Amino acid sequence: MKLAAFDWKGGRHVGRVSDDETAIDRFDLPADAVAEDGVACLIGRDLPPVAETVPLSDVVLQAPIPRPRRNVFCVGKNYHDHAHEFASSGFDSSAAKCAVPEAPIVFSKVPESVTPTGAPIRMDPSVSTAVDYEVELAVIIGKEGRNIAAADALAHVWGYTIVNDVTARDLQGLHSQWLIGKSQDSFCPMGPWAVTSDALDLADTPVRCWVNDDLRQDSNTSLPIFDVPTIVAAISNGITLMPGDVIATGTPAGVGIGFKPPKYLKAGDRVRLEIGGIGILENPVEGG
Ligand code: MG
Repeated sequence: MKLAAFDWKGGRHVGRVSDDETAIDRFDLPADAVAEDGVACLIGRDLPPVAETVPLSDVVLQAPIPRPRRNVFCVGKNYHDHAHEFASSGFDSSAAKCAVPEAPIVFSKVPESVTPTGAPIRMDPSVSTAVDYEVELAVIIGKEGRNIAAADALAHVWGYTIVNDVTARDLQGLHSQWLIGKSQDSFCPMGPWAVTSDALDLADTPVRCWVNDDLRQDSNTSLPIFDVPTIVAAISNGITLMPGDVIATGTPAGVGIGFKPPKYLKAGDRVRLEIGGIGILENPVEGG
């Protein structure tokens, strides 16, 4: 089931996207319940009654969780091929320690960096001249938990979405901690909506990214170094995960920094991320 947050007739709403992706059943909910939480307001409850069905073309999609209550958790270097391309790029401040990590590398993006499908990724050349894309499967937590065992982890997962972990490589290389380079305004496109966990086959789902018509990343959810249960177990180790928390699970090879010379994003580019079973997250690039 696909569940979306969207703006329509001057208000913020959530609803269920039809299988053919042409319409949304708008749920009957008070606007203040969905403004920032989006689909997270549906976690742990029965679906609300449907108020009406709206053509998808009439709405403006928002990020499924427009303003997460906490930072977006992110996993770095979680595909073997990407770990090696990043370690050899010269921008990896952790490369001296390890090319392939022995435990998940976890960082975060501030909630205000989240932006919806269709909205621009805004580059500021006075801040960075090396902006890169990263397609990632993102987990949405549905059940609170601390010290979650890997064997129990999927019971804590409510659904999935797509995140573009946009990164200022020069800032990532300058600072040993990655938060600044990863949290620039508009650097966390998320969407186009969320799907419930039953809609995705973690064992075999394509993960792809195009810049304009150029297929840059082409991988599969079966290939990460640390799988979703291992990631949930690691992050919840002493940290209570909460319903609505978002975890971006890392990107495969093919990011701009992996090319020689690097293929950074340029004004006018369009970045299109596709994960089977979820949908397409597409954003134009502005500035620079
Ligand atoms: Mg990433």
